[in-house]
Formats: sequence, structure tokens, C-alpha cells
Amino acid sequence: MKQADVVVIGGSAAGIPAAVTARRHYPEKSILLVRKEKQVLIPCGIPYIFGTVGTPENNLIPDGVLQSNNIELIVDEVKELKPIEKKVTLASGESVTYDKLVLATGSSPLLPPISGIDKKNVYLIKKDVQYLKNLLDALEDAKDLVILGCGFIGVEFADECKKSRDVNVTIVEMLDQCLQIAFGEEACRCCQEVEDYLGKKGINIITGARLEEVLGEDKVTAVRLSNGQEIKADALIVGIGVRPNVDLAQKAGLAVSKGGIIVDTTMRTSDPNIFACGDCADKFSFFTGQPSGLRLASIATTEARIAGANLYEISRKHPGVVGVFCTAIGNLTVAMAGMSEKGAKQCGFDVITGEAEAADRHPGGMPGMSKMWVRLVFNKVNGELVGGAVRGGPSAGELINTISACIQNRMRANDIATFQIGTHPAVTASPIAYQLINAAEMALKNMKS
Ligand SMILES: Cc1cc2nc3c(=O)[nH]c(=O)nc-3n(C[C@H](O)[C@H](O)[C@H](O)COP(=O)(O)OP(=O)(O)OC[C@H]3O[C@@H](n4cnc5c(N)ncnc54)[C@H](O)[C@@H]3O)c2cc1C
Repeated sequence: MKQADVVVIGGSAAGIPAAVTARRHYPEKSILLVRKEKQVLIPCGIPYIFGTVGTPENNLIPDGVLQSNNIELIVDEVKELKPIEKKVTLASGESVTYDKLVLATGSSPLLPPISGIDKKNVYLIKKDVQYLKNLLDALEDAKDLVILGCGFIGVEFADECKKSRDVNVTIVEMLDQCLQIAFGEEACRCCQEVEDYLGKKGINIITGARLEEVLGEDKVTAVRLSNGQEIKADALIVGIGVRPNVDLAQKAGLAVSKGGIIVDTTMRTSDPNIFACGDCADKFSFFTGQPSGLRLASIATTEARIAGANLYEISRKHPGVVGVFCTAIGNLTVAMAGMSEKGAKQCGFDVITGEAEAADRHPGGMPGMSKMWVRLVFNKVNGELVGGAVRGGPSAGELINTISACIQNRMRANDIATFQIGTHPAVTASPIAYQLINAAEMALKNMKS
């Protein structure tokens, strides 16, 4: 029987940082990571396999990070967990005992209960190299591709698939607009621009309709929608969400909810020697303390860094999920952190907003300039920032992270309006026109009126 001080199950966005953080905090411990797959895909890069990066092999997390941190790797599936014996059993039959265990078993794509969904050429978005190679092959011969779901994954898939092949692409979305779950209705300006961009690329977007049936003999030939429309399809990609992988934990008797393996704010499960992080772990909102359904790699890594640090000595606590999204379609980047105005109101917050738009270089004629628009949502009662949306060029991707930092540090409009920034003509907005600061100023003005 093998033995390691720390065993991590899972080798993706949660497992790797959990193991690396454990190494940094507990240099004397032996650390073993077990994962199912030989090669680990960068999950967020999967859509780009179908266009920009070209193959699954160009979208892998290198194992070097494990080697350089002296983390032993076993590629195998953990079949059983026995918490009392502090032991896991692998598919190979080998057993490993642990002192501390981290569950980072992730999530699997949701298969909606739609008639005909089991037909050939219907693909889920699995984090699996061979599966995605099969999808690439199927797309080689496809003339008509339908994508179910117009969240950021559906949007990215559509853009990438269209980019590199001569195929008719249709996205089917039951909500009124693309990206609506991520952005809320207030930021529909961002969503509309994404729809306009995709439309110009020749991508057909059908919103407000459900996919009701997959048609064809054994292979998909068309789909039927709730509005009666039939759309030709020789491949269907389903990207509508995930469910947490909790079987191992559940069978071992750990507490599990609909949202995943139950953890406290230190990421400890119902067994004090077992931690869980990433898509498999239950989540709660930073704002309300209520369960959160968000599943993101950025959340997984944060949780992993909390779990890895806390294994032998509790030093970090999870404040709850803020939720920070970002996507780029063509030259347009749209991003969102925290609550939308509508979402905040639904949670009972009285809110005030402020907006600002300016060039993200100064003067505006500098190369690489994009117009950047920022909208901030503040809690009217205590003045704290609870949400923000950004639309612009590539610089929007980092500004949303600054907004997230402001939210997590419960900064108020006045703090942000007097935020000390660094600016340079070639890389930032002008200090006079700085969108984040001016959006806070506008919110302060709106609070007074
Ligand atoms: C197409 C796509 C695009 C995305 N884009 C973004 C993005 O831009 N930004 C963002 O923040 N998030 C994005 N996400 C979400 C992100 O991918 C997930 O939140 C992230 O992968 C979660 O990481 P995880 O480690 O918790 O789980 P997973 O990535 O699901 O990994 C689970 C790991 O556990 C292993 N495992 C499970 N069970 C066992 C077992 N019994 N034995 C051994 N090993 C086991 C698996 O082999 C795997 O290594 C995207 C997701 C998809 C599908």
C-alpha cells in the first residue's frame, strides 16, 4: 500500500493549485496528485481548439508544474474513498493512505432530457482530448452546426467554429438574449454588441426558443424548436451547464447538497481531514450568503488556494463567490463582476449606478486604442460597490479584476473616486478620463440627485 501525507484527487483548475499551495505551505509533506486523464486540457481554452489553437494538444496544462513542485503524479481513477481508514482505492487495485485529502473532482456537462439527444453527432463539451478530437473530425464534414446555449461557452464555440470552416452555425437560446445569465439585463448593451458581431460573421442566433427534439435516424439531421422551427443540423453541440462530480464523496458518506460537496468557509468537508474545492464543491454568494450556482476556473483556483493552505493549519477563509466573467469575441471584450443591477434588486438591495466611457489610451489616437465603457452598481445604503460591467478591448479583461478587488474589499464610491492609479498613454486611459473613477463619480452624483 502506498502512503502520502497529502493526496489530491483531480488534476485540473482546482487540483493543481491545491497541490502547489500545499507544497508552498507545507514543504516537508509528501504530496500525491491522482487524476483520471493522461493529458489535462486547459478547460477555458477548449472553444479555441476549434479555431485559433487548432488541436487539443495545443491546449494542454503542462505537467512541469507538478514536477517542479515535487508533487508525485498517478494517472488513474479513484474508485473508492474510505474516510475512517484514510484510504483511497484506485482502478488499478492499488490503495493509497493519506493524512489529508483534497477532493477536486470537478464537474461533468449536463445532458438535457431532450428527445433524441442520444443520437450520433450530438456532442457535450467534455474535458477529454480524444472526445474533442472526435468532435473536430465530425465538424470536418459538417455543413450545418447547431449550438445549444448562448452563454459565454456557446458564443465562443460559435465564433471559433465559424472562423476556420465553411459551416452554417446556428445558436439556440431559450432566454431573450445571449450572455444574459452572466450579464443580467442591465448590461444588454454588451450582449447586443456580441449578437451584432456574431450576426455580421454570419452566425444565426435564435433566442427565446427551446430545443425540443433532435431529429434523424441514428444520426442528427435537424433539430425542432419550441416555436415550431426546424433547423438542419449534421452536428449539435450542447453547452448548457454542468453538474458537480460528487459520487465518490457521497458514497464515502460525506455531506453533499444539490450544489456539490458541502464545505465550510475553510473548504473543509464534513470530515475534518478532507477538503473540497472547485466545481465539485458547494458554493455561497459573497453578497447574500445564499447558495451560488457559479462554476468557474477562477473560482476553482481561489478555493484550491484556500484548501491547500488550510490543510494542517487554518489560515484562509472563503468570503463567498463574487463571480467574475470575461469573454472576448473579435475585438470586443465584455466582462462582469458581482451583481447586475437587476440581480441586486432581486436580492433586496437598494442600488445606485454610475457609468463612464472613454478611450483606453491617451490621446485616443494611440495605437491599439479601444473605447471602454464601465458601469458600477453600488449599495445605496452603505455605499459599497456590489457589481460592475466593462465593455471594450483587451484591457477590459484586467479592469474587471480591479473591480472585483474593489468589491471584495467592500470599497465605497468615494474610495474608488479617489483610488490611486498609474497611467501611461500607451497602455491606459487618461487619468482625467479614467472610466472606473468617473463611473464612481457619476454614481456619487446620482446618489445626491
Ligand atoms: C468550454 C469551457 C470554457 C470555459 N471557460 C472558462 C473561462 O473562460 N473562465 C473560467 O473561469 N471558467 C471557464 N470554464 C469553467 C472551468 O472550466 C471550470 O470551472 C474548471 O474546469 C473547474 O475546475 P475543476 O478542477 O474544479 O474541475 P475539472 O476541470 O472538471 O477537473 C476535474 C478533475 O478531477 C479528475 N477526477 C474526477 N474524478 C476523479 C476520480 N474519481 N479519480 C481521479 N481523478 C478524478 C478529472 O480527471 C479532472 O482532472 C469553462 C468551462 C468549459 C467547459
